Amino acid sequence: MADNNTKASVVLGCQWGDEGKGKLVDILAKDIDVCVRCQGGNNAGHTIVVDGVKYAFHMLPSGLVNLKCVSVVGSGVVVHLPSFFSELEELEAQGLDCDGRLFISDRCHLVFDFHQIVDGLKEGELGRGSIGTTKKGIGPAYSSKASRSGIRVHHLYHPEEFEKRLRTIVAARYRRYGDFGYDVEAELARYKQLAERLRPYVIDSVEYLHKALGAGKRVLVEGANALMLDIDFGTYPYVTSSNTGVGGVCTGLGIPPSKIGSVIGVAKAYTTRVGGGPFPTELLDDVGQKLRDVGAEYGVTTGRPRRCGWLDMVVLRYSTMINGYTAINLTKLDVLDVFDEIKVAVSYDIAGKKVTAFPADLDDLASAKVNYVTLPGWNQSISKCRSFAELPENCQKYVRFIENDIGVPVKWIGVGAGREEMISVDTNE
Ligand code: GDP
Repeated sequence: MADNNTKASVVLGCQWGDEGKGKLVDILAKDIDVCVRCQGGNNAGHTIVVDGVKYAFHMLPSGLVNLKCVSVVGSGVVVHLPSFFSELEELEAQGLDCDGRLFISDRCHLVFDFHQIVDGLKEGELGRGSIGTTKKGIGPAYSSKASRSGIRVHHLYHPEEFEKRLRTIVAARYRRYGDFGYDVEAELARYKQLAERLRPYVIDSVEYLHKALGAGKRVLVEGANALMLDIDFGTYPYVTSSNTGVGGVCTGLGIPPSKIGSVIGVAKAYTTRVGGGPFPTELLDDVGQKLRDVGAEYGVTTGRPRRCGWLDMVVLRYSTMINGYTAINLTKLDVLDVFDEIKVAVSYDIAGKKVTAFPADLDDLASAKVNYVTLPGWNQSISKCRSFAELPENCQKYVRFIENDIGVPVKWIGVGAGREEMISVDTNE
């Protein structure tokens, strides 16, 4: 008999993104039945290599690489339909059969081209204080959602309502930003076609997921972005526009907390961040450049160098408090192979006071003096290690230091970019 107590497993980014969530999801995807995205849009992304073929994912759940797995774009995701189809076409052109394995919630909000235009205009207005968004229209689409003027997937099938809402929302944006030359008539015609094309994918995902969990299916929720970019708990306003933490799993899917099982936090062995905003352990010197070069910390699509710095336990502790990780995947530990000593931030001094919790205020963060502990490096390559015991002693100590600080076991350790370059830590080790 099916186990009707199945709980969803969740993979979330612990820092500012690009932690390497893709590789873990890829490994876990082999044993799951349903892979779900719950928030964000096509501003996320990772590449998964299977049998030598490179698949690029931006908005679609990467469980699609497993032919036995069904993928669901949950209600909390905002969807730009032309991008949804171009991503799907690209995957199918590479030989991935997605037929009957991909569904989208009828409650998803739509991202339109005008949202993308507005994204650029908004960033332009902010000038030097810009957020560094990907200009994919994600933020403006979530703004439309919050202001109750958004358009959802189900509206596509009520053409009069759809047209009324589209005209109203574009008129409002013109009032705010001036006439930016958006062809509403062409868009209405285009969406008539897109609606029909989308029809076979549309489901009530709330009911679907509840039935899947009730039938004992193994569900994996694939987080996008990361906790420090959460709209509520990240470094506001330098954040994304959705809840990237565990709360976003409930609100983005319509599942209760009691249906969430393991919450795996993916943390890089150091810290990186893209775009503007506070980053207390950022290194603007040669050490930062070395982390960037060894870790290949350059944006995949933009080539933009990522900001780099030492691991920050203040961030990781905060992230753990909010998301309640049951296990950690420490990634890119091999990048630290080349350092004689490794620093880890343990607290900040702000206005003469020692602070161990992550502050809300950006000015406090900007003035924070970071207190580090220095741990010895291991000065050798760990990329061939396949068990915790094979790691050099100082490397083991580094992992244990992190575990002890946050009180969560490190269950996977990334020791290289390859799929096989991952240590699965035996809990008895
Ligand atoms: P995501 O945005 O969090 O899903 O991150 P990605 O999946 O884009 O991963 C970031 C990059 O790090 C990719 O190029 C991965 O191949 C690479 N990567 C992942 N894990 C490791 C690791 O343990 N070591 C090294 N050197 N590279 C890794």
